[in-house]
Amino acid sequence: MARPYPQAPTLKHRGPSLSGPAGRLTDMDFSLTAELQALSDEATRVGRDATLGLDITEDSWLRGVDHGFPKVMAEHGWLGMSLPTQWGGGGRPAIERFVVVEALISQGAPLASAWFADRQIGPTLLQFGTDDQRHQFLPDIIAGTSAWCVGMSEPDAGSDVASLRTRADRDGDNWVINGSKVWTSGAAESAWCYVIARTDATAAPHAGLSEFIVNLRTPGVEIRPIRDMTDDHHFCEVIFDNVTVDGSMLVGNLNGAFKQIMRQMEHERGGIDRLVSNRRLYLDAVAQAEATGLLSSNPVLRDEFARLEGGYRIGRMLVLREVLGQAPKGFSAVTKTWCTEFEQRVANFCGAIAGPGTMIWGRTARNICYAPGYTIMGGTTQILRNIIGERLLGLPR
Ligand SMILES: Cc1cc2nc3c(=O)[nH]c(=O)nc-3n(C[C@H](O)[C@H](O)[C@H](O)COP(=O)(O)OP(=O)(O)OC[C@H]3O[C@@H](n4cnc5c(N)ncnc54)[C@H](O)[C@@H]3O)c2cc1C
Repeated sequence: MARPYPQAPTLKHRGPSLSGPAGRLTDMDFSLTAELQALSDEATRVGRDATLGLDITEDSWLRGVDHGFPKVMAEHGWLGMSLPTQWGGGGRPAIERFVVVEALISQGAPLASAWFADRQIGPTLLQFGTDDQRHQFLPDIIAGTSAWCVGMSEPDAGSDVASLRTRADRDGDNWVINGSKVWTSGAAESAWCYVIARTDATAAPHAGLSEFIVNLRTPGVEIRPIRDMTDDHHFCEVIFDNVTVDGSMLVGNLNGAFKQIMRQMEHERGGIDRLVSNRRLYLDAVAQAEATGLLSSNPVLRDEFARLEGGYRIGRMLVLREVLGQAPKGFSAVTKTWCTEFEQRVANFCGAIAGPGTMIWGRTARNICYAPGYTIMGGTTQILRNIIGERLLGLPR
């Protein structure tokens, strides 16, 4: 039995064109370069070391909190890797960050308290923030010392962001925020929240929204963790009751949040985190099934194993297209749909390997209960399929 592919490859095209004389694919080299492979190996080792002796949390990018681990990442230069050196970043190609985070999350490394900052907030401040905001926030993000959360969803506004009701009203040079957010991952562990609020109640729903950086220690902020059915409480309700925010904490254009959100969503939907959330569980389950001979003796499991191995490679190619800037605009809807449905199949496959053992509360059972969330968070699959149909394929509404 072949071992599961530990690190799927980058697409390195060596031939002069993708199709040869008879339209045949010419030589494609799917392997990592030696430098990237070494980087991946190192990240795998660091990630594995960080999980030794831990009861591993699947979705470690979202739920694996260890405030010390981001500092380890920072020591390796793995935070802000592709931010410009001018702002203290590593100035490294996006593919290097891809290789590192793929390896770390695949090992279940506890990087959640750095994740939103590294994945979204750094690039957002770079694109839309002011120089003052970059000076104030990027150093801590790159040092792994500031945790952020994203306050977008509300009790009555999830898929339809344009209907959100949290308000920010001007008060001299400041803004005063009132409202509530829900499902805010990591809020209880964070210092800062990136909040979307309505700043013009008279404008069309999508036209009156703005983005703010809010210090979660400000008076008037209340954070209530929500316990999910796996007994985890990583996401929270966050209440804003007359929370005063300095005017300098507005990010980007006043009333221009909707456009900015669409750009940020590309970071959120097209990344490798959407493919490898439960990869460590998968690697462990496959190793166990190989050791017991289950995979070689059970044709149904073997068949699904082969499909998953193929599915992983396809998902990885989709993510790579995003990372390398080769994906068309909006294509992250396709990438996230494929990858998160893949993660749900992985959870079921691990359950099939554990068999009746799944009934005993543990990693596999937790992941099966949690897996429906993969196709909800970051935009539901139904909404993404609407985007694919209407915006990418131009189908009629
Ligand atoms: C684990 C997890 C972590 C999360 N973390 C965060 C976070 O950190 N920050 C944050 O802001 N949010 C977070 N969320 C919230 C997430 O973004 C929302 O749950 C998601 O956008 C869906 O919104 P909703 O729950 O309000 O469902 P709704 O929008 O009410 O949708 C309910 C159902 O109706 C379907 N539906 C709605 N509209 C349409 C339509 N037009 N066409 C077809 N079907 C439709 C949806 O697909 C869904 O099945 C998280 C969610 C989860 C599960």
